[in-house]
Amino acid sequence: MKKHNFYAGPSILPEFTKEKTAEAVINFAGTGLSVMEVSHRSKEFVAVMDEAMALVKELLHVPEGYSVLFLQGGASLQFLMVPYNLMGKKAAYLNTGAWSSKAIKEAKLFGEVVEVASSKDANFNYIPKGFDVPDDVDYLHITSNNTIFGTELLKEPEVNVPLVADMSSDIFSHPIDVAKYNLIYAGAQKNLGPSGATLVIVKDDALGKVERQIPTMLNYQTHINAGSMFNTPATLPVFASLQTLRWLKENGGVEAMEKVNIEKANILYSELDRNKLFVPTVANPEDRSRMNVTFVMAPDYAELEKDFLDFATSKGMVGIKGHRSVGGFRASIYNAMPVESVKALVEAMQDFEKNK
Ligand SMILES: *Cc1c(COP(=O)(O)O)cnc(C)c1O
Repeated sequence: MKKHNFYAGPSILPEFTKEKTAEAVINFAGTGLSVMEVSHRSKEFVAVMDEAMALVKELLHVPEGYSVLFLQGGASLQFLMVPYNLMGKKAAYLNTGAWSSKAIKEAKLFGEVVEVASSKDANFNYIPKGFDVPDDVDYLHITSNNTIFGTELLKEPEVNVPLVADMSSDIFSHPIDVAKYNLIYAGAQKNLGPSGATLVIVKDDALGKVERQIPTMLNYQTHINAGSMFNTPATLPVFASLQTLRWLKENGGVEAMEKVNIEKANILYSELDRNKLFVPTVANPEDRSRMNVTFVMAPDYAELEKDFLDFATSKGMVGIKGHRSVGGFRASIYNAMPVESVKALVEAMQDFEKNK
């Protein structure tokens, strides 16, 4: 039976990425060697890194004056690298979920954190709006998509300070205005490639302004100067990420992705709004994530949760169990998720409803 992969991360990747990576695991760029066993300094691998960086710039229309990096340590290491490098005495954070909260915890090690707003009061089921940001902060940190709670900031907040964003779970899913950001980071494993690589886009002149000593490996400038080759990069994940970037370009880039992502999200949310058995956990349509669709059983049908999970599983759905902090279900419908899989999930919801 066909499996429909709704895992939140690591998660679905394009067939193209998997096939090209599988080939290169055996014979990389005609070398007769695996991509896992060639030097990162070989001309073949340097070409991979260069093309990956160039495609990130092309696809996101990154302006002059920014550097693209492929680091390790996941988005979680960025929670501390960001304040280490960019926070003088004070930074602002918007608290929209578990990942934001973790970023805030690390930032507090480096200075004063102004939490400009939080949706914790309602288990993070909305995006706070209309908050003030002090003028004297070095940046406002946002989590553009809240993977666990199913909310997304589809437009940058209008503020007078530079933004920093954790875009781990929605990067490349729609166009963004990079010029508004001092830094963007994303673990690869949601919309780009396997875990092990972390994409960072950083404005060069935002660096070098803090007084503290920064350890070499945690200093963005180290990695900019070395073209992400200061130490051994995650060669296989970077290779696979490059294949996804090529696939994105071939398929019309982030502009085309956005159209399909809107279509997929509409199909699923429409069904959730219609079907009496289910309720989406995010009520405000403006705040609903196009990447992670979270829902629970309607109160009258709460006892059917396990039945639906078993039913959906029997129809080939994988990874739809919700995160433990929200419960219910979560369907992650990243770029690589075909419309057919979303339709298959909707069909399973309708079939289940008919039998109740
Ligand atoms: C998955 C995720 C993280 C954690 O990423 P790691 O690479 O595991 O450190 C952080 N932020 C967001 C928004 C995520 O979705």
